[in-house]
Amino acid sequence: MLAHQQQDGTVLRVFTDAYGGRSRPPYAPPGAPGQGLNLGSHVGDDPHAVAANRSLLAARVGVDASRLVFLNQVHGAEVVQVDGPCSGPAGDADGVVTTRPDLALAVLVADCTPVLLADPQAGVVGAAHAGRPGMLAGVVPATVAAMRDLGARDITAHVGPSVCGRCYEVPEQMQQDAAQRVPESAARTWSGTPAIDVATGVVSQLSALGVPVTWVPGCTVEQDRFFSYRRSGATGRFGGVVVRRERGSR
Ligand SMILES: [Zn+2]
Repeated sequence: MLAHQQQDGTVLRVFTDAYGGRSRPPYAPPGAPGQGLNLGSHVGDDPHAVAANRSLLAARVGVDASRLVFLNQVHGAEVVQVDGPCSGPAGDADGVVTTRPDLALAVLVADCTPVLLADPQAGVVGAAHAGRPGMLAGVVPATVAAMRDLGARDITAHVGPSVCGRCYEVPEQMQQDAAQRVPESAARTWSGTPAIDVATGVVSQLSALGVPVTWVPGCTVEQDRFFSYRRSGATGRFGGVVVRRERGSR
């Protein structure tokens, strides 16, 4: 279920994988039918399976399922602030921040880069979803800025598994356009053709802002334990979740 978890004071950050849920293929990894942990409600999976998967995740991070916050991700740079449970997506946005405890912020991916941000001392957490457009639009710097507006000072970032630069082939013009805005994103594929490394672009943006990074290994295209749109087309979504627990709560 979890590819990575880290507790930092009162803040828990996790990245899920594709295993340990209730979804069936193509929303489950090869060899694990009926075990897929697809968290995406917009990809054609059985809604009951998605709800069950989200409940399993909520239990794992120690919140009620109603306190898992999702976005309607649109590949932009909008950031929303949430102050309580949401009955549906918290907004059309790719970044989300909160100062409230026991509210678990989730971003969903299947090749894009998930970023989990926190300043445990200030009690501010955030999450961002950065694909190529979001990285270029600056959704991660925008999420850091929103957190600093809320009083965050010592933010650290965890960057989750995503498609690596060697696996993200693009037309040369697209690579050059991206490199004009984020030079570090220029990459080459395993066969030497032009590529974009979105995660490296995000990490460079975080470094420029003075935000220390923990980069969690894993290429979604190369590793079956993650969902990959580029590898599979119809597929599920895994996610990153950050939650600050009220001291004394479970
Ligand atoms: Zn790769």
